[in-house]
Amino acid sequence: MKISEILKENKVTLSMEVFPPKTEPRFDAVSSAVKEISKLKPAFISCTYGAGGGTSKYTVQISKDIMDYGVTSMAHLTCVSSSHETVRQQILNIKEAGIENILALRGDIPDGMAFPGTNQFEHAIDLIHVIKEEYPEACIGGACYPEKHPDAPDKDTDIKHIKEKVDAGCEFLTTQMFFDNSIYFNYLYRLREAGVNVPVIAGIMPVTTKTQMERSIELSGCIIPPRFKAMVDAFGDSPEKMKQVGVIYATEQIVELISNGCTHIHVYTMNKPEIAASIMEQISTLI
Ligand code: FAD
Repeated sequence: MKISEILKENKVTLSMEVFPPKTEPRFDAVSSAVKEISKLKPAFISCTYGAGGGTSKYTVQISKDIMDYGVTSMAHLTCVSSSHETVRQQILNIKEAGIENILALRGDIPDGMAFPGTNQFEHAIDLIHVIKEEYPEACIGGACYPEKHPDAPDKDTDIKHIKEKVDAGCEFLTTQMFFDNSIYFNYLYRLREAGVNVPVIAGIMPVTTKTQMERSIELSGCIIPPRFKAMVDAFGDSPEKMKQVGVIYATEQIVELISNGCTHIHVYTMNKPEIAASIMEQISTLI
């Protein structure tokens, strides 16, 4: 099913994200985590493309498996470090696998890569145009950044480019993780003022280890509110306690978002079915 259709239904949705294995021997472990997460029956599951060290070659396969488990799936696709030929082939693979949803991304610019280079994709919008050519029926989503994309000179410029992506055919947006809901609501207000009217799915990362928090800040540059920082300082050295605290914090964030009218939430599961299940269980009557 197309995600745009799912989001049109007048109800709260909880979707989830998984990532492919870094190496072939890890495939079975990831595959069984994905199977467990699928059993929770989220609104859809998306599979990243080479993010965080995961290899891109399994994205289509995992996305297809998700559909076989009876859950709508979305394949992420990045373009900046791939040739036009590879990107077009990957779109055809997605199409042939029957995957109806693609998250169109630029991807991070690899260290040392000349950017912009010649004959290279520069921005996600370039990828959106190519998807429209190769697979016009696909439902396309895009990424957005409540605290501004790190490369953008300012928030207004960043939002201007988000609007361009939507005008080019992006039917919904998923946010980068954030830990302070007021940042999301403020951003949503700015997007609406700029004429961006597609659904904006709130990306929630349950941070269940101290290292994960440090890595999240490093990768996304997002603000950690003092309230959450105090929790990590108090419980970060105990894996069991930190796990519980991470689930509680993420759940509280989700409840507050839903209470204030944000109806679409996307949980970055980090391939941890038990974390996804705990969150799902705690909000079971809300979705
Ligand atoms: P773009 O939309 O191209 O934006 C990148 C920067 O360029 C921004 O600063 C923007 O303001 C600017 N810009 C955009 N268009 C123009 C233009 N026309 N002219 C000038 N400037 C412009 N990475 C992965 O490798 N794999 C994944 O699976 C993955 N999944 C993600 C999922 C989500 C929900 C999010 C939020 C991020 C994900 N990422 C993933 C990370 C993402 O690839 C990086 O954040 C990347 O740096 C930007 O990608 P983008 O699609 O947002 O790029």
